[in-house]
Amino acid sequence: MNAPIKQHLIDPEICIRCNTCEETCPVDAIVHDSNNYVVDVTKCNLCMDCIPPCPTGSIDNWRIVTSAYSLDEQFSWGELPLQQEIAPAEGHEAIDADVQALIDSAHVGAGGKSVAPATAAKPSVNLYNRDKPAIATVSGNYRLTHEESDVDVHHLILDFGDTPFPVLEGQSIGIVPPGVDSEGKPHRVRLYSIASPRHGEKPNTNNLALTVKREPQGVCSNFVCDLKKGDKVQVTGPFGATFLMPNDPAANIVMICTGTGSAPFRAFTEWRRRSMPNATGRMLLFFGARRPQDLPYFGPLQKVPDALLGKYFAYSRVPGEKKVYVQDLMRREEPLLGKLLRSAGTHIYVCGLKGMEQGVDSALDDICRGAELNWRDLRDSMRAEGRYHVETY
Ligand code: FAD
Repeated sequence: MNAPIKQHLIDPEICIRCNTCEETCPVDAIVHDSNNYVVDVTKCNLCMDCIPPCPTGSIDNWRIVTSAYSLDEQFSWGELPLQQEIAPAEGHEAIDADVQALIDSAHVGAGGKSVAPATAAKPSVNLYNRDKPAIATVSGNYRLTHEESDVDVHHLILDFGDTPFPVLEGQSIGIVPPGVDSEGKPHRVRLYSIASPRHGEKPNTNNLALTVKREPQGVCSNFVCDLKKGDKVQVTGPFGATFLMPNDPAANIVMICTGTGSAPFRAFTEWRRRSMPNATGRMLLFFGARRPQDLPYFGPLQKVPDALLGKYFAYSRVPGEKKVYVQDLMRREEPLLGKLLRSAGTHIYVCGLKGMEQGVDSALDDICRGAELNWRDLRDSMRAEGRYHVETY
């Protein structure tokens, strides 16, 4: 297999054939026929000179490929191909045992072996390991929680430059904290869920976002939360081949989370918004935190239209108010959830702290009873069909 490369492509559906890019390119890599404007991979040096003058943004498209698209292929396109699945480099097929153990432990709450949704895109897994990590550059680090909150959650943006790092929503990456532990051994890799959609924080950027909570005396979370713009980070992965989105606009997606468990759901929501704006399937988010001030993405979430995302916020520590947990709001929405659970097009995702599993499970049990369903049987069949997913840590 060839080493993956980043190939510059032009979106034929958006391009208005104005010739600006061909005139701008300093190395004559852009040519056209009567059908399309295309980029010659043997000449393009990724200098980016053509990007700003393009009036439509059609020029700003990239795919990670092991075998580059030829000029003839590009001339024939009516639309851009989807990102290909990239296999790990030789010798990298097996995931490190400690990382696999973290993933297995995170998925144990599903009650059995998880599988990916039938329509999910094929993920690339384990392209980089700690012997050969990808090096990412921090391009942003912002505090997400309110300044009055003692919960310190950060939104990190990691840029991979020219290094191929294809991901799907629901996957995680590994971060290698620098230094050694008390026994003098290199620190172990920690996993973080990807909080941005597959084509980047902004469409067609080779970057991804993370949602990281600072843990008191935590080795990696403190390292990550203290990173500055321009700092370099060793990254492994991507990891995870089952906690993925259905590629089906009719699928109902019920997302239940606490704290940084919101990270993959930010990615899910953004991907559906960008790629399927007229999706008919419902998207619901049950999100638990102690107080609104502690809830990551609280401000931006308020602006997401209800038509795209039904939002239910549960707060367990608001002074003078009754404690409310995600399972309480789920029970309150029993008629809607009961109806959705009856549909073979419904997918459930649970993500966040281990402690949330039991309450969510018993709420689903109650809701099923009200809808004359058996949750144990339904859970097992949904899991086998790739429609029930738990990732808790
Ligand atoms: P560690 O150093 O590993 O410490 C672990 C715990 O021990 C911490 O709670 C810390 O407070 C405590 N501790 C450490 N040293 C001491 C000491 N000397 N005295 C007392 N207590 C101590 N986390 C996120 O924030 N966002 C995510 O999106 C995310 N996604 C994940 C996805 C998966 C699949 C998994 C498995 C985990 C995920 N995590 C996520 C958790 C993350 O991987 C780390 O476990 C977390 O950041 C803590 O790592 P750390 O190195 O900071 O803490």
